[in-house]
Amino acid sequence: MKTMEIVQRFEDAYPYVGRCFNGQRARRYVFKVRRTGKMIEGSIYEQRHDGVPIRYAIEVSSMFGCPIGCLFCASGNLGKASLLSVEEIVEQACCLADLAEHDEVPKHFCYQGIGESSLIPKVVIASAQEILGLYPGSRFKISTMGARPEGMLLLAREIPNWEALQVTFPHYENDQLKHILGNRNGYDSEQVLLAVREIKTLRPDIRIKFNFICIAGFNDNEEVVRGTVERLKQCGVLDGSEFKLSFLNATDCSDAHGLRCVGESQHHQLLSCAQEAGANAYVFGPMKDIKVGCGQLVADRLKL
Ligand code: SF4
Repeated sequence: MKTMEIVQRFEDAYPYVGRCFNGQRARRYVFKVRRTGKMIEGSIYEQRHDGVPIRYAIEVSSMFGCPIGCLFCASGNLGKASLLSVEEIVEQACCLADLAEHDEVPKHFCYQGIGESSLIPKVVIASAQEILGLYPGSRFKISTMGARPEGMLLLAREIPNWEALQVTFPHYENDQLKHILGNRNGYDSEQVLLAVREIKTLRPDIRIKFNFICIAGFNDNEEVVRGTVERLKQCGVLDGSEFKLSFLNATDCSDAHGLRCVGESQHHQLLSCAQEAGANAYVFGPMKDIKVGCGQLVADRLKL
């Protein structure tokens, strides 16, 4: 590789329930970027249903560190954020894609590693276009907490083969959202929802998922779940969207902020509540408790 090299890797396979799979083999890599000397993470998840590989989710980082600093994510603690170039993102994606053994299994490239996509739409678009040229037929997934709603719209206009957009939305109150998303100046949940509404019109082909990360004492009660579903309904973005009740992926960073995971039975109670309120809801997880969250530079931590 020209722009980076793999310096450490971690591999594990574990049950991990998503909407259409019930197991996965995870491989996570630490890359050293030659231009900056910084470490970033990239992962490849072979998602399996009843033991059969159904999809590769290739998760790339678009930044070293992240200026957002969500309280549950370690990326904001890595130091001053710096952007990866289009070439660096593409090379990272290609390296990970080449590690997929089954050519016939579809590849989804996910901008869900370190970095907030709405801040850098042009870089995300240019890299996705190049990746699509190299891996025709591949699909893209993007996650955002909505730092720049206009960046979300730019992505919607130009990302090719966009499969799914995931929007972090673990509460209904703007102040609570600002708190958990690192008290980000200028964050406005109403503008985020309006951008999602416009994206649903522009790109009805995209699956929209609202990611409600369940955090003990913050949002793990029926009032908040109902309130959040209601807010999405009032904004006209609930219909046709998914409501994903995710287990918190515990990291040292989430521990340091006093954020605790919610138990499995409580997730299922919250699921019933979201469904009764009218959401197309499901539970995602649980995560294996090895603190391999985003930005942990996991292999370094585990010394594998
Ligand atoms: S969750 Fe995403 S936006 Fe938030 S700090 Fe982590 S990488 Fe940045």
